Amino acid sequence: MKPFTIRLNFFGDLGLFLGSKFRSQPVERRLNERTSIKDVIESCGVPHPEVDAILVNGQAVGFDQTLVSDAEVKVFPVASRDPIGTEKHLQETEVIRFVADGHLGKLTRNLRLLGFDVAYSARADDGELLDIMARENRALLTRDRRLLMHSIVQHGYCPRSQAGDQQTVEVLRRFNLVELIAPFTRCLRCNTPLQDAAKAEVIEGLEPLTKIYYHQFRRCPGCGQVYWAGSHFQKLEKRIERIQARLVGKRSD
Ligand SMILES: [Zn+2]
Repeated sequence: MKPFTIRLNFFGDLGLFLGSKFRSQPVERRLNERTSIKDVIESCGVPHPEVDAILVNGQAVGFDQTLVSDAEVKVFPVASRDPIGTEKHLQETEVIRFVADGHLGKLTRNLRLLGFDVAYSARADDGELLDIMARENRALLTRDRRLLMHSIVQHGYCPRSQAGDQQTVEVLRRFNLVELIAPFTRCLRCNTPLQDAAKAEVIEGLEPLTKIYYHQFRRCPGCGQVYWAGSHFQKLEKRIERIQARLVGKRSD
């Protein structure tokens, strides 16, 4: 087969996944065999769950499109959905169940605090993460781009920031979760939805002052943890306020 050249332009923040010298110029790939567009894009370092639209010589295509001759390719992230005007989107935005890798403990706690379903174990290995992702139809959250490139990953996201609060804002935006925020409805420890509990049911495990001053409680049916509006609660409320302030702030902060 005659060798051919693919020129790829990555839009939005997809440049973050490229080597630094390519961030401001197109990436060229020289090929000499039929290759899927998905493989060419991932060979540049961009995981397929981050790609929402692909134009090959101006035509919108799917991941299985095969390249056989010279082509000009444009690759768009989910975040630039509105301006490009193609109907052919490769990602779903409305995913509400997640599995997070062991490095994303703070993001996990924040998302649970806001009411979202996030499976997490600090010790889960890659195989276990992929398994729970596929079995429970969850989106994979990880900063390990090799893991995101695994062929069985359908929905996933690589948090750009290293900071938990900013990662939380990124995930809320990426998956359109802002309208679905329901604080204090899920156990921070084990991810189970909380239930209201009568004081009489939980009083045994409470500190003396808590017994006197608090009257409304929620309990986790999964691990038994009891929640009430004590001093820890105020810290969590502050955290929610911080995240909400970031959400309405600049997108690039
Ligand atoms: Zn629990």
